[in-house]
Amino acid sequence: MSADTPSARNSDDIDDARRAPALFVGHGSPMNCVADNVFTRDMHALGSTLPRPRAILVVSAHWLTRGTFVTADARPETIHDFYGFPEELYALRYPAPGAPELAQRVAAVTGGVVQPAPGRGLDHAAWMVLRSMYPAADVPTLEMSLDMTLSERRHYELGARLAPLRDEGVLVIGSGNIVHNLHIIDWSEDAPTADWAREFDAWVRDALAERRHEDLIDYLERGPQARMAAPTADHYLPLLYAVALQRPDETVTTVHESFQHATVSMRCAQFG
Ligand code: ZN
Repeated sequence: MSADTPSARNSDDIDDARRAPALFVGHGSPMNCVADNVFTRDMHALGSTLPRPRAILVVSAHWLTRGTFVTADARPETIHDFYGFPEELYALRYPAPGAPELAQRVAAVTGGVVQPAPGRGLDHAAWMVLRSMYPAADVPTLEMSLDMTLSERRHYELGARLAPLRDEGVLVIGSGNIVHNLHIIDWSEDAPTADWAREFDAWVRDALAERRHEDLIDYLERGPQARMAAPTADHYLPLLYAVALQRPDETVTTVHESFQHATVSMRCAQFG
């Protein structure tokens, strides 16, 4: 069938209507599990206004692997992957269903690069944010790991391969933090934001607005204060998955911007 036939055009129209956006979210401290602040309120508002996704796939800054994996259980457990926080956080559960068949689809669209990982649950990079966005925990949710042996460009390219999932109504979320330096974090609530943290965050903001994907991939060389802002790559890399899913006709919307604890950027961006 030629691409010019009416039926082909119709199927494109259906994809446009069903296509889910891609998101990058800053998740910050586990205290955001129970906080009521500008960040959690913006996340709640976002979940209330987005078209309901068929499923959610979160690329997590807290699942670091060799090779790339995706959760595959029908009922993924809630992982409390943080230490020294108040007891109430460890009692929280986020009982969203999994989607084993979608895990197979993730493997298929990536040519087998991403492998299903039975037995793995959802860590706080996923469930903490989704608890604000979708408190009913009724959207099937998968989580994907970061292969820490890949270059920044390979992460970006792997993100781009997830594009068919958007067309099928899957909300892909990169969950990390653009600025995330825990070596010099200030846990006080009103800590003034460091100048170098603002500088890198603003550079990313502008690169997103101007669609400078190459700059974002090469952030360590081109971004001011990048080695201070992202001393480890894990919380920055989920951004590249969301950026890679930006279609040529799509702009970027700032969903939220703030800092927590002086050195953690909570910036969140929506693509499409
Ligand atoms: Zn984190």
